[in-house]
Formats: sequence, C-alpha cells, structure tokens
Amino acid sequence: HTVVGVLALQGAYDAHHRMLQGMGVATRRVRQPQDLQGLDALVLPGGESTTLLHFLQQGTFWQDLQAFVATRPCLGTCAGLILLAQQVQPAQPGLGALAVTVQRNAYGRQRDSHIRQATTILPGGPMEMVFIRAPRIVQCDPVVQVLAYSDGTPVLVRQGQTIGCAFHPELSSDTRVHQLLLDAVADAARR
Ligand code: GLN
Repeated sequence: HTVVGVLALQGAYDAHHRMLQGMGVATRRVRQPQDLQGLDALVLPGGESTTLLHFLQQGTFWQDLQAFVATRPCLGTCAGLILLAQQVQPAQPGLGALAVTVQRNAYGRQRDSHIRQATTILPGGPMEMVFIRAPRIVQCDPVVQVLAYSDGTPVLVRQGQTIGCAFHPELSSDTRVHQLLLDAVADAARR
C-alpha cells in the first residue's frame, strides 16, 4: 500500500501528516536520508527554507533528496516549493524539480500573510488559499502547467509528477492539492 513521506525537519509538517491520515493514507516522517527508502511520494512542507537547507546539507541528505524528487511524486508547499525550484531569489540552492524561479517573501508587508479564495482549473470551484510569507513564482518554464493563479501570479503548478504551491493547503479543509499527489502516485503505479 501507499506510504507518503513528510519531510519533518522543521515547519508545518504535522498538519500535512494529519491531512494525509484523514484521507486514509499511511505517512512516514522523514528526518534522515534513509527514511526516504521505499516511499511512494514525499511532501516538502512550509517552514523556513534556509533552516531546512541547513539540515538538508548534512551528509548525503541533499543528494538523496534530489534523486528522490527526480523520480517520485512530490508536493512542495511554500518553503517546500522554494526547495523544489530551479532558481531562487535571493540566490540559494534548489533541487531543480520544478522549472520555475521563485522569489522568497515576495509579497508586500500588508499582504504578507492572508487567506483568499482563488480560481483553479481543478474541478470543484474556487479554492481557499492560506498564504504565509509566501514565495512568488516569478518565472515559469512552458513545461510547467499552471493549475491556479492568484492576482495573475501562478500559485499552484505541476511539472510531471512534481507539484508546487505557494500557499498552505494543509491549513484548509480542501483536500484537492493533496489528492493531486495521490493521483500522481496512482499514475506512477500504472506505468
Ligand atoms: N518565508 C519562508 C521562506 O522563505 C517560506 C514561508 C512559508 O513556508 N510559510 O522560506
């Protein structure tokens, strides 16, 4: 059966864990590189990307994670999106699984953190989105499919089996973003 890992070094990992469990999915907290073994998919949660990088740059974690995200379904939210990106502003390492450029903490102070309804091409109508010191996707390669925009900026994207979102889907009751990850797992199993 499916086991989804949640990177549990820092940040909003517990809410992802609860959400997936609520959807009937087995989860595993990933705290060291060997925890990646045998997982069907991985969630890279929000938090502070520089702190996450600090932990990920110990031992073989970064290389192992890079190999994992290149071959398995992954969902990166907020700081997790920053980790998956090819380019980050200001410059910091990215795993390169999503051909996007993200700018950290890009929203002005007044709307630094906010909740809004935004339109998405996913069935089910507008989606509640919780933004917390969110990154902005400032550039998107044509291979990247945009699934939702907020104020004309892509906020939910997919490239193959890699999904990235600028907001925190684990803090709303809408399960559609996590379902995308589970659908990617089912697709991978069929191939
Ligand atoms: N500001 C954080 C960063 O740059 C991301 C914020 C979040 O994940 N909620 O890493």
